[in-house]
Amino acid sequence: MANVKVAVRVRPLSKRENAEEGRIIVEVDNKMAKVRNIKVDNRLDGPWDSREKIVAFSFDYCYWSVDPEDPKYASQEVVFQDLGTSVLSGAFKGYNICLFAYGQTGSGKTYTMMGTPASIGLTPRICEGLFSREDDYSEQPASCRVEVSFLEIYNERVRDLLKQSDHKKPYTLRVREHPETGPYVQGLSQHLVTDYKQVVGLLEEGIAKRITAATHIHDASSRSHAIFTIHYTQAILENNLPSEIASKINLVDLAGSERADPSYCKDRITEGANINKSLVTLGIVISTLAQNSQMFSSCQSINSITSEGDSSPVGSHTTGSVSGTRRQAYIPYRDSILTWLLKDSLGGNSKTIMVATISPASSSYNETMSTLRYASNAK
Ligand code: ADP
Ligand code: MG
Repeated sequence: MANVKVAVRVRPLSKRENAEEGRIIVEVDNKMAKVRNIKVDNRLDGPWDSREKIVAFSFDYCYWSVDPEDPKYASQEVVFQDLGTSVLSGAFKGYNICLFAYGQTGSGKTYTMMGTPASIGLTPRICEGLFSREDDYSEQPASCRVEVSFLEIYNERVRDLLKQSDHKKPYTLRVREHPETGPYVQGLSQHLVTDYKQVVGLLEEGIAKRITAATHIHDASSRSHAIFTIHYTQAILENNLPSEIASKINLVDLAGSERADPSYCKDRITEGANINKSLVTLGIVISTLAQNSQMFSSCQSINSITSEGDSSPVGSHTTGSVSGTRRQAYIPYRDSILTWLLKDSLGGNSKTIMVATISPASSSYNETMSTLRYASNAK
Protein backbone atom coordinates (compact mmCIF):
# COMPACT_ATOMS: atom_id res chain seq x y z
CA MET A 1 0.00 0.00 0.00
CA ALA A 2 1.27 3.45 -0.90
CA ASN A 3 1.87 5.73 2.07
CA VAL A 4 -0.82 8.22 1.14
CA LYS A 5 -4.06 7.21 -0.53
CA VAL A 6 -6.86 9.59 -1.42
CA ALA A 7 -10.48 8.71 -2.12
CA VAL A 8 -13.49 10.82 -3.04
CA ARG A 9 -17.07 9.98 -2.15
CA VAL A 10 -20.12 11.67 -3.60
CA ARG A 11 -23.24 11.55 -1.40
CA PRO A 12 -26.88 11.57 -2.60
CA LEU A 13 -28.72 14.84 -3.15
CA SER A 14 -30.18 16.08 0.13
CA LYS A 15 -33.86 16.94 0.54
CA ARG A 16 -33.01 20.59 0.27
CA GLU A 17 -30.96 20.10 -2.88
CA ASN A 18 -33.81 18.10 -4.38
CA ALA A 19 -36.32 20.76 -3.42
CA GLU A 20 -34.29 23.53 -4.97
CA GLU A 21 -34.07 21.35 -8.07
CA GLY A 22 -30.39 20.88 -7.49
CA ARG A 23 -28.57 19.70 -10.53
CA ILE A 24 -25.92 17.06 -10.41
CA ILE A 25 -22.65 18.58 -11.56
CA VAL A 26 -20.30 15.79 -10.49
CA GLU A 27 -19.53 12.64 -12.45
CA VAL A 28 -17.36 9.75 -11.45
CA ASP A 29 -15.53 7.79 -14.09
CA ASN A 30 -13.30 5.04 -12.74
CA LYS A 31 -10.64 6.95 -10.80
CA MET A 32 -11.65 10.37 -12.08
CA ALA A 33 -14.03 12.83 -10.48
CA LYS A 34 -15.30 15.41 -12.97
CA VAL A 35 -17.05 18.63 -12.09
CA ARG A 36 -18.76 20.82 -14.58
CA ASN A 37 -19.07 24.50 -14.10
CA ILE A 38 -22.67 25.31 -14.83
CA LYS A 39 -21.87 28.95 -14.26
CA VAL A 40 -19.97 28.92 -17.51
CA ASP A 41 -22.67 27.24 -19.50
CA ASN A 42 -26.18 27.41 -18.20
CA ARG A 43 -27.52 24.33 -19.94
CA LEU A 44 -28.38 22.37 -16.87
CA ASP A 45 -29.62 19.07 -18.22
CA GLY A 46 -28.83 16.90 -21.14
CA PRO A 47 -25.72 14.89 -21.75
CA TRP A 48 -22.29 16.07 -20.75
CA ASP A 49 -20.97 18.31 -23.39
CA SER A 50 -17.31 18.60 -24.23
CA ARG A 51 -17.71 22.32 -24.84
CA GLU A 52 -18.64 22.89 -21.21
CA LYS A 53 -15.96 23.70 -18.74
CA ILE A 54 -15.22 20.43 -17.01
CA VAL A 55 -12.48 20.01 -14.47
CA ALA A 56 -11.26 16.48 -13.83
CA PHE A 57 -9.32 15.24 -10.81
CA SER A 58 -7.83 11.81 -10.42
CA PHE A 59 -7.69 9.86 -7.16
CA ASP A 60 -6.93 6.37 -5.90
CA TYR A 61 -10.65 5.69 -5.49
CA CYS A 62 -13.80 7.55 -6.50
CA TYR A 63 -17.05 6.45 -4.91
CA TRP A 64 -20.39 7.26 -6.41
CA SER A 65 -22.92 6.97 -3.56
CA VAL A 66 -25.61 9.08 -5.19
CA ASP A 67 -28.22 6.60 -6.31
CA PRO A 68 -28.52 3.08 -4.85
CA GLU A 69 -30.07 1.93 -8.14
CA ASP A 70 -26.98 2.88 -10.09
CA PRO A 71 -24.68 -0.07 -10.88
CA LYS A 72 -21.74 2.16 -9.91
CA TYR A 73 -23.22 2.75 -6.44
CA ALA A 74 -20.60 2.45 -3.69
CA SER A 75 -22.16 1.20 -0.46
CA GLN A 76 -20.60 1.30 3.01
CA GLU A 77 -19.47 -2.28 2.37
CA VAL A 78 -17.67 -1.33 -0.85
CA VAL A 79 -15.88 1.54 0.87
CA PHE A 80 -14.91 -0.78 3.72
CA GLN A 81 -13.62 -3.44 1.33
CA ASP A 82 -11.19 -0.95 -0.19
CA LEU A 83 -10.24 1.36 2.65
CA GLY A 84 -11.21 -0.49 5.83
CA THR A 85 -9.44 -3.69 4.89
CA SER A 86 -6.28 -1.82 4.02
CA VAL A 87 -6.42 -0.14 7.45
CA LEU A 88 -6.74 -3.59 9.01
CA SER A 89 -3.98 -5.21 7.02
CA GLY A 90 -1.69 -2.26 7.82
CA ALA A 91 -2.48 -2.55 11.54
CA PHE A 92 -1.89 -6.30 11.52
CA LYS A 93 1.53 -5.67 10.06
CA GLY A 94 2.33 -3.10 12.75
CA TYR A 95 1.89 0.19 10.89
CA ASN A 96 0.42 3.33 12.39
CA ILE A 97 -2.49 4.57 10.33
CA CYS A 98 -4.56 7.72 9.94
CA LEU A 99 -7.85 7.72 8.11
CA PHE A 100 -9.38 11.18 7.64
CA ALA A 101 -12.74 12.32 6.37
CA TYR A 102 -12.48 15.81 4.87
CA GLY A 103 -15.29 17.87 3.37
CA GLN A 104 -17.83 20.59 3.93
CA THR A 105 -20.46 20.20 6.63
CA GLY A 106 -23.24 17.91 5.43
CA SER A 107 -21.13 16.20 2.75
CA GLY A 108 -20.99 12.79 4.44
CA LYS A 109 -17.91 12.71 6.72
CA THR A 110 -19.72 11.27 9.72
CA TYR A 111 -21.77 8.96 7.50
CA THR A 112 -18.55 7.57 6.05
CA MET A 113 -16.65 7.32 9.34
CA MET A 114 -19.47 6.21 11.66
CA GLY A 115 -22.51 5.56 9.48
CA THR A 116 -26.02 5.12 10.79
CA PRO A 117 -27.56 2.18 12.67
CA ALA A 118 -29.00 0.97 9.35
CA SER A 119 -25.83 1.57 7.41
CA ILE A 120 -22.70 1.05 9.47
CA GLY A 121 -19.62 3.09 8.58
CA LEU A 122 -15.87 2.53 8.55
CA THR A 123 -15.02 2.92 12.25
CA PRO A 124 -17.30 0.18 13.63
CA ARG A 125 -16.50 -2.08 10.66
CA ILE A 126 -12.77 -1.69 11.29
CA CYS A 127 -13.30 -2.52 14.99
CA GLU A 128 -15.32 -5.56 14.04
CA GLY A 129 -12.51 -6.62 11.72
CA LEU A 130 -10.00 -6.41 14.57
CA PHE A 131 -12.02 -8.81 16.68
CA SER A 132 -13.04 -11.21 13.95
CA ARG A 133 -9.61 -11.48 12.48
CA GLU A 134 -9.61 -14.33 10.03
CA ASP A 135 -6.88 -12.98 8.02
CA ASP A 136 -5.06 -13.85 5.01
CA TYR A 137 -2.99 -10.86 6.06
CA SER A 138 -0.27 -12.47 8.13
CA GLU A 139 0.34 -15.04 10.82
CA GLN A 140 -2.08 -15.02 13.71
CA PRO A 141 -0.58 -13.56 16.90
CA ALA A 142 -0.74 -15.48 20.19
CA SER A 143 -3.00 -12.75 21.60
CA CYS A 144 -4.05 -9.16 20.96
CA ARG A 145 -4.94 -6.21 23.12
CA VAL A 146 -7.26 -3.45 21.96
CA GLU A 147 -7.42 -0.12 23.78
CA VAL A 148 -9.40 2.84 22.54
CA SER A 149 -9.67 6.55 23.22
CA PHE A 150 -11.97 9.16 21.74
CA LEU A 151 -11.27 12.87 21.77
CA GLU A 152 -12.37 16.10 20.22
CA ILE A 153 -10.23 19.08 19.26
CA TYR A 154 -11.92 22.45 19.23
CA ASN A 155 -10.14 25.77 19.03
CA GLU A 156 -6.77 24.05 19.56
CA ARG A 157 -8.02 22.52 22.83
CA VAL A 158 -8.78 18.89 23.56
CA ARG A 159 -11.72 17.21 25.27
CA ASP A 160 -12.08 13.57 26.28
CA LEU A 161 -15.28 12.18 24.75
CA LEU A 162 -15.21 9.13 27.04
CA LYS A 163 -14.90 10.87 30.37
CA GLN A 164 -17.11 13.18 32.37
CA SER A 165 -15.88 16.71 31.90
CA ASP A 166 -16.70 20.13 33.25
CA HIS A 167 -19.66 21.39 31.21
CA LYS A 168 -18.57 24.97 31.34
CA LYS A 169 -14.97 24.31 30.41
CA PRO A 170 -14.80 20.97 28.65
CA TYR A 171 -11.78 21.57 26.46
CA THR A 172 -9.02 21.60 29.01
CA LEU A 173 -6.70 18.74 28.08
CA ARG A 174 -3.26 19.55 26.78
CA VAL A 175 -0.97 17.88 24.33
CA ARG A 176 2.53 17.11 25.53
CA GLU A 177 5.44 15.40 23.90
CA HIS A 178 7.35 12.57 25.47
CA PRO A 179 10.96 12.43 24.29
CA GLU A 180 10.68 8.75 23.43
CA THR A 181 7.03 7.91 22.86
CA GLY A 182 6.07 11.17 21.16
CA PRO A 183 3.04 13.44 21.48
CA TYR A 184 0.13 12.46 23.73
CA VAL A 185 -2.87 14.02 25.44
CA GLN A 186 -2.29 14.42 29.13
CA GLY A 187 -5.05 12.76 31.15
CA LEU A 188 -6.90 11.19 28.21
CA SER A 189 -8.78 8.05 29.23
CA GLN A 190 -7.83 4.75 27.58
CA HIS A 191 -10.37 1.92 27.50
CA LEU A 192 -9.47 -1.72 27.23
CA VAL A 193 -12.06 -3.52 25.11
CA THR A 194 -12.42 -7.22 24.53
CA ASP A 195 -15.26 -7.43 22.06
CA TYR A 196 -17.05 -5.52 19.34
CA LYS A 197 -20.08 -4.73 21.50
CA GLN A 198 -17.93 -2.85 23.99
CA VAL A 199 -16.42 -0.71 21.26
CA VAL A 200 -19.83 0.14 19.88
CA GLY A 201 -20.93 1.16 23.39
CA LEU A 202 -17.96 3.52 23.68
CA LEU A 203 -18.48 4.91 20.18
CA GLU A 204 -22.11 5.67 21.00
CA GLU A 205 -21.13 7.28 24.28
CA GLY A 206 -18.56 9.52 22.58
CA ILE A 207 -20.82 10.49 19.71
CA ALA A 208 -23.63 11.40 22.11
CA LYS A 209 -21.23 13.51 24.11
CA ARG A 210 -19.96 15.24 21.01
CA ILE A 211 -23.48 16.31 20.18
CA THR A 212 -24.84 17.30 23.57
CA ALA A 213 -22.13 18.34 26.00
CA ALA A 214 -20.70 21.28 24.16
CA THR A 215 -23.43 23.61 25.30
CA HIS A 216 -21.58 26.78 24.48
CA ILE A 217 -20.77 25.73 20.96
CA HIS A 218 -23.43 25.84 18.35
CA ASP A 219 -23.15 22.90 15.95
CA ALA A 220 -20.07 21.43 17.62
CA SER A 221 -19.45 18.69 15.08
CA SER A 222 -18.92 21.09 12.20
CA ARG A 223 -16.38 23.08 14.19
CA SER A 224 -14.34 20.37 15.82
CA HIS A 225 -12.21 17.40 14.86
CA ALA A 226 -13.03 14.02 16.42
CA ILE A 227 -10.32 11.38 16.70
CA PHE A 228 -11.08 7.79 17.62
CA THR A 229 -7.80 6.02 18.32
CA ILE A 230 -7.30 2.27 18.56
CA HIS A 231 -4.12 0.99 20.15
CA TYR A 232 -3.69 -2.50 18.78
CA THR A 233 -0.99 -4.65 20.35
CA GLN A 234 -0.18 -8.16 19.21
CA ALA A 235 1.77 -10.60 21.31
CA ILE A 236 3.94 -12.72 19.06
CA LEU A 237 6.80 -15.12 19.26
CA GLU A 238 9.93 -14.02 17.50
CA ASN A 239 12.67 -16.64 17.36
CA ASN A 240 10.78 -18.36 20.16
CA LEU A 241 10.96 -15.26 22.35
CA PRO A 242 7.84 -13.30 23.34
CA SER A 243 7.60 -9.94 21.61
CA GLU A 244 4.99 -7.31 20.75
CA ILE A 245 3.85 -5.53 17.62
CA ALA A 246 2.11 -2.25 18.45
CA SER A 247 0.12 -0.17 16.01
CA LYS A 248 -2.15 2.82 16.29
CA ILE A 249 -5.20 3.42 14.13
CA ASN A 250 -6.51 6.99 14.13
CA LEU A 251 -9.96 7.48 12.64
CA VAL A 252 -10.59 11.18 12.19
CA ASP A 253 -13.83 13.01 11.45
CA LEU A 254 -12.54 16.50 10.60
CA ALA A 255 -14.24 19.85 11.12
CA GLY A 256 -16.25 21.11 8.16
CA SER A 257 -13.87 22.30 5.47
CA GLU A 258 -15.90 25.48 4.86
CA ARG A 259 -14.07 26.62 8.00
CA ALA A 260 -10.90 26.63 6.00
CA ASP A 261 -12.29 29.51 4.00
CA PRO A 262 -11.10 32.73 5.65
CA SER A 263 -14.14 34.74 4.57
CA TYR A 264 -16.43 32.34 6.41
CA CYS A 265 -14.87 33.09 9.76
CA LYS A 266 -14.63 36.87 9.76
CA ASP A 267 -16.79 37.24 12.84
CA ARG A 268 -15.21 34.42 14.81
CA ILE A 269 -11.63 35.34 14.37
CA THR A 270 -9.84 33.10 16.84
CA GLU A 271 -11.98 30.02 16.40
CA GLY A 272 -12.07 30.38 12.66
CA ALA A 273 -8.37 30.98 12.49
CA ASN A 274 -7.67 27.93 14.61
CA ILE A 275 -9.85 25.55 12.63
CA ASN A 276 -8.50 27.00 9.45
CA LYS A 277 -5.01 26.53 10.81
CA SER A 278 -5.35 22.85 11.60
CA LEU A 279 -7.00 21.99 8.27
CA VAL A 280 -4.45 24.04 6.37
CA THR A 281 -1.57 22.52 8.36
CA LEU A 282 -2.94 19.03 7.79
CA GLY A 283 -3.04 19.69 4.06
CA ILE A 284 0.56 20.92 4.10
CA VAL A 285 1.75 17.99 6.21
CA ILE A 286 0.11 15.36 4.02
CA SER A 287 1.20 16.87 0.74
CA THR A 288 4.77 17.31 2.02
CA LEU A 289 4.76 13.69 3.12
CA ALA A 290 3.50 12.58 -0.25
CA GLN A 291 6.23 14.56 -2.00
CA ASN A 292 8.88 13.28 0.38
CA SER A 293 7.79 9.70 -0.10
CA GLN A 294 7.98 10.07 -3.87
CA MET A 295 11.43 11.50 -3.45
CA PHE A 296 12.25 8.76 -0.98
CA SER A 297 11.19 5.99 -3.31
CA SER A 298 13.10 7.52 -6.18
CA CYS A 299 16.32 7.49 -4.19
CA GLN A 300 15.95 4.37 -2.11
CA SER A 301 18.79 2.74 -3.92
CA ILE A 302 21.16 5.23 -2.32
CA ASN A 303 22.26 3.79 0.99
CA SER A 304 23.21 6.79 3.04
CA ILE A 305 19.77 7.76 4.30
CA THR A 306 20.02 8.89 7.89
CA SER A 307 16.98 9.41 9.98
CA GLU A 308 16.34 12.01 12.66
CA GLY A 309 13.19 13.23 14.43
CA ASP A 310 11.52 11.32 17.26
CA SER A 311 12.78 7.90 18.16
CA SER A 312 9.55 5.90 17.96
CA PRO A 313 10.06 2.95 15.63
CA VAL A 314 6.88 3.49 13.68
CA GLY A 315 6.16 6.91 12.34
CA SER A 316 9.38 8.78 12.83
CA HIS A 317 9.64 10.67 9.62
CA THR A 318 12.76 10.62 7.57
CA THR A 319 14.11 14.10 7.40
CA GLY A 320 17.60 12.87 6.87
CA SER A 321 19.85 13.88 4.08
CA VAL A 322 20.49 11.76 1.09
CA SER A 323 23.87 12.30 -0.42
CA GLY A 324 23.70 13.74 -3.87
CA THR A 325 19.97 14.57 -3.66
CA ARG A 326 17.82 17.33 -2.21
CA ARG A 327 16.93 17.33 1.46
CA GLN A 328 13.49 16.14 2.39
CA ALA A 329 11.11 19.03 3.01
CA TYR A 330 10.46 20.12 6.60
CA ILE A 331 7.12 18.92 7.94
CA PRO A 332 5.35 21.45 10.22
CA TYR A 333 3.64 18.97 12.57
CA ARG A 334 3.70 21.34 15.51
CA ASP A 335 1.82 24.12 13.75
CA SER A 336 -1.51 22.67 14.87
CA ILE A 337 -2.75 20.42 17.68
CA LEU A 338 -4.27 18.01 15.18
CA THR A 339 -1.05 17.36 13.27
CA TRP A 340 1.12 17.45 16.38
CA LEU A 341 -1.00 14.81 18.06
CA LEU A 342 -0.96 12.62 14.97
CA LYS A 343 2.73 13.16 14.30
CA ASP A 344 3.80 9.58 14.90
CA SER A 345 0.95 8.27 12.76
CA LEU A 346 1.66 10.56 9.82
CA GLY A 347 4.63 9.99 7.61
CA GLY A 348 7.66 7.81 8.09
CA ASN A 349 6.53 4.26 8.27
CA SER A 350 2.83 5.09 8.59
CA LYS A 351 -0.09 4.97 6.23
CA THR A 352 -2.49 7.82 5.54
CA ILE A 353 -5.86 7.60 3.86
CA MET A 354 -8.01 10.61 3.12
CA VAL A 355 -11.64 10.39 2.07
CA ALA A 356 -12.87 13.66 0.61
CA THR A 357 -16.65 13.83 0.80
CA ILE A 358 -18.63 16.01 -1.56
CA SER A 359 -22.16 16.88 -2.57
CA PRO A 360 -23.09 16.31 -6.21
CA ALA A 361 -25.25 19.45 -6.38
CA SER A 362 -24.63 22.61 -8.34
CA SER A 363 -25.27 24.72 -5.24
CA SER A 364 -22.08 23.30 -3.68
CA TYR A 365 -19.90 24.01 -6.70
CA ASN A 366 -17.40 26.22 -4.84
CA GLU A 367 -17.06 23.95 -1.82
CA THR A 368 -16.77 20.87 -4.01
CA MET A 369 -14.00 22.41 -6.09
CA SER A 370 -12.16 23.51 -2.98
CA THR A 371 -12.46 20.03 -1.42
CA LEU A 372 -11.23 18.32 -4.58
CA ARG A 373 -8.29 20.70 -4.84
CA TYR A 374 -7.36 20.05 -1.23
CA ALA A 375 -7.65 16.30 -1.74
CA SER A 376 -5.65 16.30 -4.91
CA ASN A 377 -2.89 18.30 -3.22
CA ALA A 378 -2.69 15.50 -0.66
CA LYS A 379 -1.56 12.98 -3.27
P1 ADP B 1 -20.98 15.67 7.70
O1 ADP B 1 -20.54 14.76 8.81
O2 ADP B 1 -19.96 15.82 6.63
O3 ADP B 1 -21.46 16.99 8.19
P2 ADP B 1 -23.10 13.75 7.42
O4 ADP B 1 -22.28 12.52 7.40
O5 ADP B 1 -23.79 14.07 8.70
O6 ADP B 1 -22.22 15.00 6.97
O7 ADP B 1 -24.11 13.65 6.21
C1 ADP B 1 -25.18 14.56 6.01
C2 ADP B 1 -26.44 13.78 5.65
O8 ADP B 1 -26.27 13.09 4.41
C3 ADP B 1 -26.79 12.73 6.69
O9 ADP B 1 -28.19 12.66 6.79
C4 ADP B 1 -26.26 11.45 6.07
O10 ADP B 1 -26.95 10.31 6.52
C5 ADP B 1 -26.43 11.69 4.59
N1 ADP B 1 -25.38 11.01 3.81
C6 ADP B 1 -24.10 11.41 3.72
N2 ADP B 1 -23.39 10.60 2.90
C7 ADP B 1 -24.23 9.66 2.48
C8 ADP B 1 -24.11 8.51 1.62
N3 ADP B 1 -22.92 8.21 1.06
N4 ADP B 1 -25.19 7.77 1.40
C9 ADP B 1 -26.38 8.08 1.98
N5 ADP B 1 -26.56 9.12 2.80
C10 ADP B 1 -25.51 9.91 3.07
MG1 MG C 1 -20.44 15.23 10.85
